[in-house]
Amino acid sequence: MAARTALIAGNWKMNTVLPEALKLAAAVKDASVGAPGDVAICVPFPFLESVSKVLAGSKVGLGAQDCSEADKGAFTGAVSTGMLQSVGCAYVLTGHSERRSIFGESDALINLKTKKVLSAGLKCILCVGELKEQREDGTTDKVVAAQLAAGLKDVSEEQLGSIVIAYEPVWAIGTGLTATPEQAQDTHAAIRKWVQGAYSAAAADRLVIQYGGSVTPETVDELMACPDIDGALVGGASLVADKFARIVNFKA
Ligand code: PEP
Repeated sequence: MAARTALIAGNWKMNTVLPEALKLAAAVKDASVGAPGDVAICVPFPFLESVSKVLAGSKVGLGAQDCSEADKGAFTGAVSTGMLQSVGCAYVLTGHSERRSIFGESDALINLKTKKVLSAGLKCILCVGELKEQREDGTTDKVVAAQLAAGLKDVSEEQLGSIVIAYEPVWAIGTGLTATPEQAQDTHAAIRKWVQGAYSAAAADRLVIQYGGSVTPETVDELMACPDIDGALVGGASLVADKFARIVNFKA
């Protein structure tokens, strides 16, 4: 098995105002000094540049929560990957379930955004995951495979090296319900198997697959001990400095 470097990423969503963002970013920077894996925080657009200055010289990567599928021009309110890169971003989230459900983003749009992130030379955290009823009717692997096929359409094996997959069961996001380590491990293994079939065994082996869905200091160690879980995408707990500090310093 490839030695995959774990990635713990925080997703602040539409939370914090500037002074809070700076304080939280400084706390993440301090907490990450001895962290066993990579760390990133996906912060609101207006705070990217100031947070980038706080994170300078640290191991914490800066991430955005969305981007435009277009390069530039008359797209009022949109933010391009070039803009993100110019303020120090290294990561961009695509396909988050809130973008899918609240903003109506289709798999086709998510694919365009994913390819835009990759062509800008940024790392893309592509989120996939099933609804509660899909888990209950046993179609999780099918749903996730379809999201992967659509989201990664025309993404080359070389480009896949800049992709992280975040498996986030929708029923576990922000609900306090975490998938059991067995449920998460099974789906992560299914994702890796899909990548093996669509790309190669080597690509599957290299792929970092995060789990997301109400990860807390209490659940992170058990999740990270699973062989196919290589990190976490953390919403609520990433807004609480002490909790996120413990999560980035997981013990697997
Ligand atoms: C997320 O926003 O991707 C997420 C997993 O949120 P939470 O940790 O709050 O469930």
